[in-house]
Amino acid sequence: MSQIKPTKNGSSKPESVRGQLAELNRQFEGTHPDRVLAWASGTFGAKAVIGTGFGPSGIFLIHRAHILGLVTPVFYLDTQLLFEETYALRDKLEQKLGISIHKVSPDLSVREQAEKHGEELWNRDPNHCCYIRKVAPLKKYLSDKEAWITGIRRNQSVTREDTQIVEYDAVSDVIKINPLAAWDNDRIWDYIRKHDLPYNPLHDEGFPSIGCIPCTSPVAEGEDERNGRWRGEEKIECGIHFSDVTGRFERDA
Ligand code: SF4
Repeated sequence: MSQIKPTKNGSSKPESVRGQLAELNRQFEGTHPDRVLAWASGTFGAKAVIGTGFGPSGIFLIHRAHILGLVTPVFYLDTQLLFEETYALRDKLEQKLGISIHKVSPDLSVREQAEKHGEELWNRDPNHCCYIRKVAPLKKYLSDKEAWITGIRRNQSVTREDTQIVEYDAVSDVIKINPLAAWDNDRIWDYIRKHDLPYNPLHDEGFPSIGCIPCTSPVAEGEDERNGRWRGEEKIECGIHFSDVTGRFERDA
């Protein structure tokens, strides 16, 4: 198995890394996520971190890492605009698994953001708001990490259908690992029910994808699970997984 060890701060070579990624993806396609998680932990140790928004995919990965006895830290982006059900779920997971989930916070509180950029920036410029509350804090947190493990899946939305199991994230200069890229929602939910794992009760009220309160709504039957995010906007990604908005706001965050 290839041992990718990119050096931080721009000295890694995306072209050569991509060459190794193709081989890894060939080996991992069709295998169980456990194999990918174990490889990530074996290759990067505690410099590989699981990021979660407390959706079903994240719960699955956190539980598998726990069962496998991996030292992989877990973090979440606390925009300070999450549902109380989401914070309660964080507490339940910590208690049930005996783990500590690291909170990554934006530089500005919601009040400070309003003072600097006006009230309810999410209504006027959600890309800017996501940059301040998610993209920039993530980049800062990952600056001393080597690999970022996510729960994104190909069938979540059109924007995610090309997701590879192992990718290079040029924005944060980390290897991005998506062990569930090929999995579907039903398989993950079967696992959560079988193991009686806690989940966000809002999922039972028509919210398949849950983010910040102002930008989350229920979805209708037949819609993609992420269609309830930023309802009324073209936006269906916050920018942490896709870099099209990243960097535009760097001087003005
Ligand atoms: Fe702001 Fe909405 Fe993005 Fe949350 S999801 S950071 S409230 S724009």
